[in-house]
Amino acid sequence: MRTIGILVIASTLLLLPVSAQNRLRVLISVDMEGVVGTVTGDQLGPTGFEYGRFRDFMTREAVAAVTAARAAGATDIIVTDAHGNGENLLIEQFPPDVRVIRSWPRQLGMVAGVDQQVDAVMFIGYHASTNNVKGVRAHTFSSGTLTKVTLNGATVSEGSWAAAIAGHFNAPVIMMSGDDAAIAEVRSAVGNIEAAETKRTLGFHSAMTITPQASYDLIAARVKAAMARRSEFKPYKVTTPVTVEISFKNYTAAETLAFLPVFERVDAHSIRYRAKDMVEAEAIRTFITTYRPDMTP
Ligand SMILES: [Zn+2]
Repeated sequence: MRTIGILVIASTLLLLPVSAQNRLRVLISVDMEGVVGTVTGDQLGPTGFEYGRFRDFMTREAVAAVTAARAAGATDIIVTDAHGNGENLLIEQFPPDVRVIRSWPRQLGMVAGVDQQVDAVMFIGYHASTNNVKGVRAHTFSSGTLTKVTLNGATVSEGSWAAAIAGHFNAPVIMMSGDDAAIAEVRSAVGNIEAAETKRTLGFHSAMTITPQASYDLIAARVKAAMARRSEFKPYKVTTPVTVEISFKNYTAAETLAFLPVFERVDAHSIRYRAKDMVEAEAIRTFITTYRPDMTP
């Protein structure tokens, strides 16, 4: 009986598809303000005169992370386009087995695609929060409309917010790239993750940058280092239920949202809500920054 049992187990293992065995799933979320050389709107959107070249740099930074992650054992890689219109990455530059998430709105925002099967998360091209006095193009979710976002009472950057969503699914953030201010801010919340500093902030619209090739090499090296010590990183868990406060540049968004019982008006520019977890907190946050009654189609 015992021998038969072992044989059954052994043959079952052999019959299992590779996907059920040693898969190592990595999600790479890619923003643009922290990409090498980006400093102004000239690089960051389709109307900027340097956008075409910089979306190529952005893509190559992501590809550098993908290539290094695969060399270090990643078997399944999802890349999310997490900047602007969500249509920046040049998808033809990625290896054929990579999946790319594009455009908005979408559940789980910048880390769409994360689930309990994802083993590690990386942030490429991330930037500091709108409350950071340093940081190139520092903002939180919307540079045009929001002046502050807090999570459980502390100001939060897009990076630490996204890390908390990943943490809900037990996926640790292990590496990021961006300017020095962005890296310091995420590390202060999430811990001492590996980081590739693509530029030194000199102000909101100025930086001392490394060159694109140096950035690809640095990102590859830091991804390799992060994968090597992957077991050291813990998921970023926040206390639940979560309390979120959002401050708007203007008045009427806060006033109108407070008509709904889910929102409390904290001050003239701010609302507060509670959510049972980060998934719900992100869904409500997405609604707040997306919904307009004249949306089409
Ligand atoms: Zn962005």
